[in-house]
This record gives sequence, C-alpha cells and structure tokens, in this order.
Amino acid sequence: MLRNLLVAEISTGPNIPLGILLQLWSVGLAIASCPECGDKVYLFRVHGMISMHRCWGFCRTCRVQRQVFLDDFCQKAIQPAVTLLQQHPNEKITYETFEDSEFSWGSGLKKVTRICTLKQPRYQPVDIFTLVRILKPKFQS
Ligand SMILES: [Zn+2]
Repeated sequence: MLRNLLVAEISTGPNIPLGILLQLWSVGLAIASCPECGDKVYLFRVHGMISMHRCWGFCRTCRVQRQVFLDDFCQKAIQPAVTLLQQHPNEKITYETFEDSEFSWGSGLKKVTRICTLKQPRYQPVDIFTLVRILKPKFQS
C-alpha cells in the first residue's frame, strides 16, 4: 500500500511527489469520503478525465485502498496539484556558455559564444522503503 504513495499521479500527467501530497492533505485538499465508513480517504491518484472524477486513495480507518468519486474534482485535486507542481519543479536550470562557429557568406566563418540551458533534477526520487531506511536512524537517536 505504501508503495502506491510513490506512484501518485494525475493520469497521463506527472507523478505527484509525496511532499506535494502532504501539502494538499494538510489543507484538506485531495481528500474524499470513504464510501464504506465515511472517514477520510487520502487521494494519491486521480484520473485526468474530468467527466470520470475517479480517484484512488487510502482510507485511514478501513486501512485499504479505495476508489472514490470526488465532487469539485478539479478544484479539490487537479488544480491544486498542478499549481504546487509548477511552484516546486524538480529541476534546476543552469546556463553554460560554449564556443561555437557560425558561417555567413558576408563574414565567412567566425567564432561565436552560445548559451546552453541545462535542466537537472534537484533531487532523485526514492521509493518509500528507501526513504524509511534513510530517515529511520534520525528518529531513533
Ligand atoms: Zn473507510
């Protein structure tokens, strides 16, 4: 079950990092009601087709994964997730210059300096088991 938290996704969209899910849940977003017990279902996967409103989450009382239908699907799940993904991109943009050559019939071959844009991930994702192994010693001391 915990493994599913790591593959949270908006259908056909990017995976949603656990940190973004935690931000959504902490303000009451991406949460639906469990059809069995009525308690909260913490969504970790939503279907991107607006007409379908299908979501999958974990009910904290039943302790199982549930498929639920969320009213105001876009306002309560999709749009906030997209906004947070845009605010916290997992990429670092750097610029490097390099020497190159450019040819024109009027000037011939001449050297020019070009700028290259590099996008690198800020962090490497890990699965939940690796994360627990990394963090566990910090909470045991
Ligand atoms: Zn339940």
